[in-house]
Amino acid sequence: MVELKNVDVHYRESGVEALNDVNIRINDGEFVFIVGDSGAGKSTLLKLLTHEMLPTKGRVFVNGYNLSKMKKSKLPKFRRSIGMVFQDFRLIPNMTVFENVAFVLRVTDRSKKFIRQRVPYVLNLVKLADRAKSYPSQLSGGERQRVGIARAFATDPGLIIADEPTGNIDPRLSYEIVELLMDINKCGTTVLMVTHEHDLVQYFGGRIINLKDGCVVFDDYIQGKNEG
Ligand code: ADP
Repeated sequence: MVELKNVDVHYRESGVEALNDVNIRINDGEFVFIVGDSGAGKSTLLKLLTHEMLPTKGRVFVNGYNLSKMKKSKLPKFRRSIGMVFQDFRLIPNMTVFENVAFVLRVTDRSKKFIRQRVPYVLNLVKLADRAKSYPSQLSGGERQRVGIARAFATDPGLIIADEPTGNIDPRLSYEIVELLMDINKCGTTVLMVTHEHDLVQYFGGRIINLKDGCVVFDDYIQGKNEG
């Protein structure tokens, strides 16, 4: 569950009110698009959700943690409850596809046996089982992002945050990236996808949260064009 209650973020350096009395509640298992023009406050919102910063006012709850009150010692466990997908993929260039996914499992102390089973499972899910031995440079943008999604899902997080995941890939392939995130969502993981691609949002529909000048100006469900 993700909840923001009366959240303000005020950047003292610039004097900007980046978020202004934001109230959002996202239940477990939802898929939500977060949209808004540049400067609307999307990145600030994500920084709150990953505990990179605290709000000036208000409260933020993610995956059962009250982030304003969270002890430092809980931070690693909290971070592991979130899978991140980035616009620029952030794969490790000198590791194979398999190793890129295995790496996040190793650093979270999963057993070798678990890793041997889990990595092929998630690579299969993103339809990249046959590219396990390839390096990121040998993949297309779309394929790299599929690895990024496999990596985010490998630890079976309660929440996946995808920050402009289609921003660096061929627009034709953007749809399959969203479909993959939706497949993962069907496995029970909550997915928040930040995007400024209106066509994608209109096509898929669902719950849309629109930020404008730091305020939620729309939070509702729309019908997708793909639903006829
Ligand atoms: P978005 O991700 O939607 O483009 P941001 O959250 O990055 O929006 O920015 C919201 C507002 O806060 C903008 O006016 C931006 O200039 C300002 N802002 C963002 N980060 C900082 C910062 N570290 N210091 C000062 N102002 C910032």
